[in-house]
Amino acid sequence: MINIKRLTHRLEELAQIGKTPNNGVKRFSFTKEEQEANKLVEGYMREAGLKVEYDVVGNLIGTLAGSEDLPTILLGSHIDTVPDGGKFDGPVGVLSAIEVIQTLNEQGVKIRHPVKVISFKDEEGSRFGFGMIGSRAVVGTLMEEDLLRKDEAGITIKQAMKDAGFGDSPLESAKLDNIKAFLEVHIEQGKVLERKNVGVGNVTGIAGPLWLKFHLQGLAEHAGATPMDERQDALVGASLIIAEAEKIAKRFPPAVATVGKIAVKPNAVNVIPSDVEWTIDIRSTDEAQRNEIEQLIKQYAQQVADERDLTLHITELQRIDPVQCDPEIQAMIQESIREMGEEVVSLPSGAGHDGMQFKDRFPIGMIFVKSINGISHNPKELSLDEDIEKGANVLYYTLLKLDQA
Ligand SMILES: [Zn+2]
Repeated sequence: MINIKRLTHRLEELAQIGKTPNNGVKRFSFTKEEQEANKLVEGYMREAGLKVEYDVVGNLIGTLAGSEDLPTILLGSHIDTVPDGGKFDGPVGVLSAIEVIQTLNEQGVKIRHPVKVISFKDEEGSRFGFGMIGSRAVVGTLMEEDLLRKDEAGITIKQAMKDAGFGDSPLESAKLDNIKAFLEVHIEQGKVLERKNVGVGNVTGIAGPLWLKFHLQGLAEHAGATPMDERQDALVGASLIIAEAEKIAKRFPPAVATVGKIAVKPNAVNVIPSDVEWTIDIRSTDEAQRNEIEQLIKQYAQQVADERDLTLHITELQRIDPVQCDPEIQAMIQESIREMGEEVVSLPSGAGHDGMQFKDRFPIGMIFVKSINGISHNPKELSLDEDIEKGANVLYYTLLKLDQA
């Protein structure tokens, strides 16, 4: 069993770095705050018995040697935050992984596989609008051109990296080979575990967002002088499509579809709307399912456009592949939850995580810790000590099972 006092003390200590006036945390990548946080976490890693190093992009990596010549097991998460974030999103995963290693060492448990605990560089993407920098680097998908992206001050990733003392070897040097699997503990950032009244959960997969932009064009005419059956009202068309999108998504739980942004032209009280543009964000952990939802919405939209003599254009803004958590690792996580006397709840992750970058490269598993009121990316983010303890213990027992597999 892990030492929860030590773990929560470290969480609290880490939360002091980059603390905002309203008790939130702001730690952007390559900043003074993040460097200071890295130093602190580096110290925890050493206390845990890990050999510490940084790679070319500034991933903080602690290594525990295995007793046999076997592939490496990766554990980790991130310590960067959104502008006014909480203290749990990311740090729970990094510090739980360190705690697990420290517990192994204290209890004299020998592990066969080498283990690396990684605090991934910039998962959130808050500074450069480009996230998962560290996890991309470890699978070799971070490209030189990606480093040309700039923050608000016009500083490129490449420059920020250099200023922080990294970036002096080729990006390929960050690539990790011969990996057995990746395990991450993370807060849920939703309300499923709370509703089911459990502290931890097994993650089935990470939903990939598909973002589409719809543009429906009709005719702007006088709202008083145009009879109801002679109109090409783009907004009525759009509202039918939006309402239908909700119905379609509901047929495929736990997939979700959201229209979060809409613009109407000319946007006047007495003019029939001629142009409506809106976005839709469709997410599922199952790509085939997401494709089906996409097709059904598109078909319906075209049908509405045809019936109402409107012109429809759909553009794709972003399509990120969902990733499934490995079934065998999921079974190990479920078994570990059960052994602790807890009810097993499995759920997808609607939010993105570093593990997405590892799709088709090596298997991943994720353990969720309950978020109070589902709040995250907010100073009010909260996970209880008892639930963090459960999450870290599930990681501990899952690692032991994976090591024997
Ligand atoms: Zn996170």
